[in-house]
Amino acid sequence: MHVLFVTPECYPLIKTGGLADVAGALPLALAPLGVEAKVLLPAYRGLLDQIASPTVVAEVVDVFGGVGRLVAGTAEGGLNVLLLDAPHLYERAGNPYLGPDGVDWPDNDKRFGALSWIAAQLALGSVRTAAAWRPDIVHLHDWQAALTAAYLRFRPATVGPPANVPPSLLTIHNLAFQGLFPAETLAGLRLPAASFTVDGLEYYGQVSFLKAGVRYADHLSTVSPTYAREILTTEQGMGFDGLLQARAGELTGIVNGIDDAVWDPAADPLIVAPYSARRLNAKAANKAALQTELGLDVRRDVALFCVVSRLTTQKGLDLLLAAMPAALARGAQFAVLGSGERDLEAAFTSAASNHRGQVAVVIGYDESLSHRLQAGADAIVVPSRFEPCGLTQLYGLRYGTLPVVARVGGLADTVIDANEAALRDGVATGFQFAPVNAAALATALERAIELFADERGWLRIVRRAMSRDVGWDRAALDYVALYERMLAGTAASVSPASTLTSPGGIA
Ligand code: ADP
Repeated sequence: MHVLFVTPECYPLIKTGGLADVAGALPLALAPLGVEAKVLLPAYRGLLDQIASPTVVAEVVDVFGGVGRLVAGTAEGGLNVLLLDAPHLYERAGNPYLGPDGVDWPDNDKRFGALSWIAAQLALGSVRTAAAWRPDIVHLHDWQAALTAAYLRFRPATVGPPANVPPSLLTIHNLAFQGLFPAETLAGLRLPAASFTVDGLEYYGQVSFLKAGVRYADHLSTVSPTYAREILTTEQGMGFDGLLQARAGELTGIVNGIDDAVWDPAADPLIVAPYSARRLNAKAANKAALQTELGLDVRRDVALFCVVSRLTTQKGLDLLLAAMPAALARGAQFAVLGSGERDLEAAFTSAASNHRGQVAVVIGYDESLSHRLQAGADAIVVPSRFEPCGLTQLYGLRYGTLPVVARVGGLADTVIDANEAALRDGVATGFQFAPVNAAALATALERAIELFADERGWLRIVRRAMSRDVGWDRAALDYVALYERMLAGTAASVSPASTLTSPGGIA
């Protein structure tokens, strides 16, 4: 089976968030199951230099205002990629979405419209790669790829019957990002006016790329069963709940895995001392090294909580600022790595200067430090207001760094709260709190600190957390089953096969 992944980012080539990890790891996990996946993404500045054996496989005369080429190659790790090399759209400094001034690129409609358009051309066979590779399934990721479904829906008549069009799957990694643009942009997107209706991609007078995907993709998925249910509600639906309810029968929730080769405490070149569930003593060396590196008091006996996150309202880190004083009074330490909203950055920076030796903050993005935090901390705090899946709590499980999480989305699906029943039954892997507010978070931190004081009890949970299967194998099987149902034309919402917890395990 051939699957074309269409994505704005992909680890290790370009990453701003969890989507990159998924786009980089899932295709590799699908390979042993007989899926030949290629990942299509823009050739942002520098990407062509990062792939092995770059080969031009197609020339495209007009990619939304300039010449483009499709360049095939292999990324580190063996991933097959197709880069859309269109310098007028992608050859610039800054990140995939924002210029160096931190403002959205003014032509993001064209930049991601072009990505989606070329994906549709590949799917329809109108642009052929040299090897004439055509996908059986088009797997779209987030709003930046979602318009592909509209191009497939409004395909030229010459394409022939629907059987000539590969089915499309839109995976929503975060409903908060909807790809909204003024109505006037439609004219430059090569879509007919007929698409601009309430049943199409029109969203309160604007063009919404995500809505195009939600309306026109053959099947929808999101990255955890709980988030799949939450986005059908007014509270978490972000204005899309009605649209999604109409398609609830074609909406599947599959929990992400993590790349357990990149995230392996027993063989992680980025950490000071490798360790495993059986050789846990070495984790202490990572803790001491981390404390030294960050200027924290080097103490084994106090709980060290870490955060690795975008600093945004979604991530609920304002709640942590409010809950921290009580935990600090109990002697706990905090190490925070993140960047984002200026006021949150400033608040954490000032917490660090007010609590030297107990709070350390690094503002920025640092992949290597994120590994040392996961290895050295005792627990990781993820207090998100909403969280489609979340990856850092999965890294935490793998590294025996117990997650303290809000009971939402994928966090609820992947961490089993250490309540009395779960402790008695020997199934706890972390701490959940609800409702999502500072008081409930403070209580969860308190519970973690109490348990940490019981070294043997804590280590039992650490070992269990480390034994959880958080790799991609399970999710890959679920995706293949979904692709097969789509090909058979029978895709319907699946049961939450990928939930790591059993409902009984959630407090
Ligand atoms: P989201 O995609 O919403 O940002 P996820 O938890 O799904 O959240 O994924 C975030 C990814 O980005 C994880 O791999 C995490 O380790 C990484 N990450 C986030 N912030 C930083 C940072 N400041 N430095 C290094 N890695 C980070």
